[in-house]
Amino acid sequence: MRRFLIWIVLCFFGLCGLAGTSPVSPKNVIIMIGDGMGFNHVEAASLYQYGHYKGQIYWTFKQLAACTYSLNNPDGYKPSIAYRDFAYFLAGPTDSAAAATALSTGQKTMNGMLGMTPDEKSLRHIMEDAEVMGKATGVVSTVPFAHATPAGFLVHISSRGKYPEIAQQMLWDSAAEVIIGAGHPWYDDDGRQVGGLEANRFETPQKYDRVGGLESWKKIMNGEPGADCDGDGTPDPWTLVQSRQELRDVSEKDTPKRLLGVLTVYNTLQCSRSGDVKAPPYKVPLLETSPTMSEIMAPALCVLKQDQDGFVLMAEGGAIDWASHGNLSGRLIEEQVDFDKAVEYAVEWIEKHSSWDETLLIITADHETGYLTGPRSDPVWQPLVNYGVGNLPGMEWHGKGHTNQLVPVFVKGAGAETFVQRATMIDPSVGAYMDNTAIPNTVRELWKRATP
Ligand SMILES: [Zn+2]
Repeated sequence: MRRFLIWIVLCFFGLCGLAGTSPVSPKNVIIMIGDGMGFNHVEAASLYQYGHYKGQIYWTFKQLAACTYSLNNPDGYKPSIAYRDFAYFLAGPTDSAAAATALSTGQKTMNGMLGMTPDEKSLRHIMEDAEVMGKATGVVSTVPFAHATPAGFLVHISSRGKYPEIAQQMLWDSAAEVIIGAGHPWYDDDGRQVGGLEANRFETPQKYDRVGGLESWKKIMNGEPGADCDGDGTPDPWTLVQSRQELRDVSEKDTPKRLLGVLTVYNTLQCSRSGDVKAPPYKVPLLETSPTMSEIMAPALCVLKQDQDGFVLMAEGGAIDWASHGNLSGRLIEEQVDFDKAVEYAVEWIEKHSSWDETLLIITADHETGYLTGPRSDPVWQPLVNYGVGNLPGMEWHGKGHTNQLVPVFVKGAGAETFVQRATMIDPSVGAYMDNTAIPNTVRELWKRATP
């Protein structure tokens, strides 16, 4: 009898699975974006950390890829001709603004544009869908929070260069619960305070544009409320954190409703610090005053998980791109390792505070930067050369800008299987891939499935 009952139960779930009605809708979505992170960036950090390829934790997830082109490139990405000419990938790449818009809204736009169509109509962010569903939302980055990738998930602005307007929309108009990033108007790239000193409170050699201008900064300092983040009709103030210690002090005992982190560096947490930029990884000591990427995700998740309806968090390893634009191999490794550790942190967090049944973790990139390959690659692609753990692998850069290559997509958790089904295109080198717009649209599809 018992065996018969088990058989009935198994058949029931089996049929549900066949009918596609299994409840795999993610309550929580964590999307981690390595800005500029191509497959070789990942592999370089794997060789450095593990002494072999595919060492990072995310290689145990579902492995896919995405094409990234924007509307600036009418030819898109064509795998049938991509590998005939070494220069193919250099033509017509996306920028971070158009790519973030694609990853957030599910629609492509022109380079430079954030959350808008080419004719400047607002597109709907996945964060806005989440807010309607009652979920909490947040963006964190290792570069200024008003930079293209985090901005691309929250704002509707025609140009990524309009920093004051971008920061103002994020801080005072968006319903986000968490915004954390660099861009502090009083600090330099070494985490030294250079402005806002006692004698002349608001004088600084840096700009206020990344925090929305001086008036916006004064509002932040005065704890003035921004938009209504929880839909109760009352504007909600930001709780401001700046130092690494203040970030660490955000705890489960007294968690704020909204958290704004303006970290005490100007451009990046580590990548722009002074010292020999061509030195091997960690030869120039990391800034003690800057948090790691894991340390900015921890308080973000602490705040977001208070929402019973779930959350969406976008976490950006932004300086992978900055290091790659400069062809700075050592600093790239530092940034990629920091990103990889943040993914490990996210996995631990999900297993401790949530589960893979209710949380979806997506690891991807907005585009590749620097055209990173193994040595002596042009005209034939060569693999990176493994020199063992702790040693910079043999690598070669072929550009200072972005490329049109496919980027990695790793997914695990609630709904991951559906991503595999949506990766319907095949690349001869990388395998199954999807368009970058399919990433948010697949999340939407999963959410819809759960709605009766
Ligand atoms: Zn980018």
